[in-house]
Amino acid sequence: MIKRELPTRRVQSFSQVLDKVNEIVEKVRKEGDRALREFALQFDNVKLEELVLSEEQVANAASKIKPEVKGAIDEIWDQLVSFHELIKPPSLGGGSKNVEYGVLWRPLERVGIYVPGGKKSYPSTLMMAGIPARIAGVEEIHVATPVKGEIDPAIAYIAFKLRVKRVYPVGGAQAIAALAFGTESVTKVDKIVGPGNVYVQAAKFIVSQEIGIDGIEGPTELVVIADQTSDPRSIALDLMAQGEHGSSSLLVLMSNSEELLNKVAELLNDENEYYLVKTENLETAIELANKIAPEHLSLYTSRSRELLHLVKNAGAITLGNTPPALIDYSAGPDHILPTNGWARFRGGVTVYDFLKPVSYVNAEKVDKKLVKAAEILAEYEGFKHHAKSIGVRYD
Ligand code: NAD
Repeated sequence: MIKRELPTRRVQSFSQVLDKVNEIVEKVRKEGDRALREFALQFDNVKLEELVLSEEQVANAASKIKPEVKGAIDEIWDQLVSFHELIKPPSLGGGSKNVEYGVLWRPLERVGIYVPGGKKSYPSTLMMAGIPARIAGVEEIHVATPVKGEIDPAIAYIAFKLRVKRVYPVGGAQAIAALAFGTESVTKVDKIVGPGNVYVQAAKFIVSQEIGIDGIEGPTELVVIADQTSDPRSIALDLMAQGEHGSSSLLVLMSNSEELLNKVAELLNDENEYYLVKTENLETAIELANKIAPEHLSLYTSRSRELLHLVKNAGAITLGNTPPALIDYSAGPDHILPTNGWARFRGGVTVYDFLKPVSYVNAEKVDKKLVKAAEILAEYEGFKHHAKSIGVRYD
C-alpha cells in the first residue's frame, strides 16, 4: 500500500508481552536449566538434553559449511575487522593544573551474543556482534541461539573463528534471562548484544536493570532521499529489500521530484506499506529524516556528499547509489542498528559497546587552587570528611 504522507507514529511496542516475558525471566532466575528445557519444549517444540553444545558438535557442524559460504564469510570478515580496527579508541593520557589524568579503554570480560533463529538463520548477525567484541578484546564470548536439530554450519563456523567460549542451543526470552543471571549450564555475562523478536527485546529490557544491553532493536527502518537523477528501480528494490524483514518495517522515500516518486510507486510490490513523500527540496527532506531518526538512511542524490553534513540522526547512512542492504552484510559498519528513534541518542554496534573508559588520576602535585575549590564545594554540600581528606594532604 502506498501513502503520500509521512507516518504519524511508529507502531512498535513490546508492552503487551511484558507480563508474560517477566514470568519467563523470573522462572529462569529461580529454576535455571529446568526452566530452559521446559520453555524449549513449550515454545520451540525441542527436547533439549544438553544446554551447551560441545566443541566437537560445533566443529562437526562447521565442517559441513558450503565452500562458497565459507569464502563469503572470510571475505566479509576482513572488511568488518578493518572498520572496527579503524574506530577502536586508543587509551589516552594528558594533564592540566598539575593533575595527570587519562582514560584506559578496558574490554568487558564476558559478553553474551543473541543470534536470532526462530524463523530464519542469521549468521551475519553473529559476525556483526562478534567481530567488534573480539577487536575490543573481550575475554569470553558466549552465544545463545535457538537450535532445532543441528546448529547452522555457517553459525558454527563463525563461532569457531570467533573462538566463542560456549554455544547454548537456547532461544527466546529464556535465553536472555539465562545469560543475564546464569544457570547450571549457562555462564552469567556482563552484557548481552544482539537483535531478536518481541519476546527477546522485552527480556533484554527487563534484564537491563541488572546487566548491560546494546539497545532494543525493533523492526527495520529505511528512509531514502532521492532526486530526479536517481534510478527508480534501485530505490524500489532497496525499499522492498528492507521490507523483507517483516510487515512492520518503516519504508519511506522523500524526493523533490514528483516524477521519480511516481516511477518508484509503479515498481513497488503490495507486501508492505510505503510512504512516498514530495518535499520542496532535499534540505527539507533531510530535516524530516532527522526527526524520524531512521535506522538506515539512503542519501541517493547527485549532491549526497554535500548534504551529508546536514544529517543529525541516523543509524547508518549509505551515500549515492549504494544499496543499504550492503551494510546488512559486507560494507564494514555494523548492521545491528538503533530503531524506533533511538538513533537520536545512540549509533550502531561498534567496539565501543564492548569497551568501557576507566579513568585514572595522579594529583600529588595538584595546583592549590583546585584543592581549595574542592574543599569549598565539599563543605557547601555538607561533606566535611571529603573536605578534610583533601585539605590535610596539601597543607
Ligand atoms: P528469535 O530467535 O528472535 O525468537 C525465537 C524465539 O522466540 C524462540 O526460540 C522462542 O523461544 C521464542 N518464542 C516464540 N514464540 C513465543 C511465544 N509465543 N511466547 C514466548 N516465546 C516465544 O527469532 P525470530 O522470531 O525469527 O525473530 C528474529 C527477529 O530479529 C526478526 O524480527 C528479525 O527482523 C530480527 N533481526 C534483526 C536484525 C538487526 O540487526 N536489526 C538482524 C537479524 C534479525
